[in-house]
Amino acid sequence: MDIQNLNKLCQNQLQLAGKLGNIDQTFLTFLSEPKNEIIVNFPVKLDNNKLHMFKGYRIQHNNLAGPYKGGLRFDEICCLDECKALAFWMTIKCSLQKLPLGGAKGGIKFNPKLHSKNELKNISQEYSRALFRFIGSNIDIPAPDFGSNSQIMDWMTAAYQSIRNTHNNDMYTGKSIEYGGSQGRSEATGRGVMICTREWFKSNNINIKGKKFIIQGFGKVGSHAANFLCKLGMICVGIGDHTGYLYSENGFDINMIIDYAKEAGTILNFSSGIKLTKEKFFSLDVHTVILAALELQVCGDFAKNLKCELVVEGANGPMDMEADKILQEKKIDVIPDVLANSGGVIVSYYEWLQNRRQEYWDLYKVRDKLDKHMCKTFKKVFDKYNTNHKEYNLRMSSYIISLENLYNYYQVRQNCS
Ligand code: NAD
Repeated sequence: MDIQNLNKLCQNQLQLAGKLGNIDQTFLTFLSEPKNEIIVNFPVKLDNNKLHMFKGYRIQHNNLAGPYKGGLRFDEICCLDECKALAFWMTIKCSLQKLPLGGAKGGIKFNPKLHSKNELKNISQEYSRALFRFIGSNIDIPAPDFGSNSQIMDWMTAAYQSIRNTHNNDMYTGKSIEYGGSQGRSEATGRGVMICTREWFKSNNINIKGKKFIIQGFGKVGSHAANFLCKLGMICVGIGDHTGYLYSENGFDINMIIDYAKEAGTILNFSSGIKLTKEKFFSLDVHTVILAALELQVCGDFAKNLKCELVVEGANGPMDMEADKILQEKKIDVIPDVLANSGGVIVSYYEWLQNRRQEYWDLYKVRDKLDKHMCKTFKKVFDKYNTNHKEYNLRMSSYIISLENLYNYYQVRQNCS
């Protein structure tokens, strides 16, 4: 399977969850396609004064529970099918966490690393202008994702505000603090990954201290997740990014390598650690593997060769269904993306609430609320998994809970129409 037909993976997951959870088939059909698939082509003048056409997407999957919500991806492989899959997962994620939000995803097909700051600003703002009719606090609220960040959300918010002649800033989340962003948003997804990992250890009565982990992806999600896990006493012995993989038997100094990666844009020439191939990296003998890069990273032989007890999906869709099956047979638990990386959308929801109410919450309040929210959902998922004698995995437990929540909205709407 490749990114071009990632949506097939979602459909298969949906059908399997429907079967295991005995979910109404008409409702599954209703969820099988997004409500809106928006494609925009927009011109941007580059620094060399030449005009270039860019292609942007916004998929609005479902808004039964509230306005569409989901990130924006800046990536040269961004495509319709990938956005459809990611939007579907947002619907499942928001409903699992019982947020009053639906699911969406979007992006621009280009490599942001190849553009100057000025070009990035113009590309972001033209995309925001091209999409402004479809975006809004009560309609659809984008956020950062792979390849985008708070600076980009600020630029997009500014473009939207000027076109709508408004001071409201609640139509984008993940903004900088100065532009109305929430405390704790930049760390939120990584923090959520840590909370789920910590709760898994607690639920299994295993001491987390001294347990070794490796992490693929060392950007916004991966670097924060690794940092928080080290604070709990775990040891980070392997890190991978788009440039390669590093191993350190005694563990990396996490603060030093985070600073280095921020400055250098890569981990590869860090002062300690030995270089490994991706194959060797994913066959290291460690307790936990954190996936925080991209889709479909651990499939086939990579899944077969894993030697760990736990995989945590910080990224969206890093494994396919075959990998799920292999890991289930190997009795390796997987904390699925829709649960593990949902800290980001939860704090985006807090940002949206603060903007709407003109409130400013401090970091402790945000962390405390996030902690309670994630623990409550983790417990529900884990309990369902246990009460069903682990007949199906944590992903299917999460899907069934999410679909049951969403089905309640669906039924109420059906009865009112
Ligand atoms: P990012 O752009 O900040 O970082 C991506 C990281 O992945 C970088 O370290 C990059 O070097 C690495 N990477 C890229 N291609 C790779 C490859 N082929 N092999 C190995 N490593 C590679 O992105 P992010 O925001 O950290 O997002 C990472 C994942 O988490 C994505 O799947 C995204 O959808 C998901 N996610 C992000 C958020 C969020 O709040 N940012 C929320 C939920 C889910």
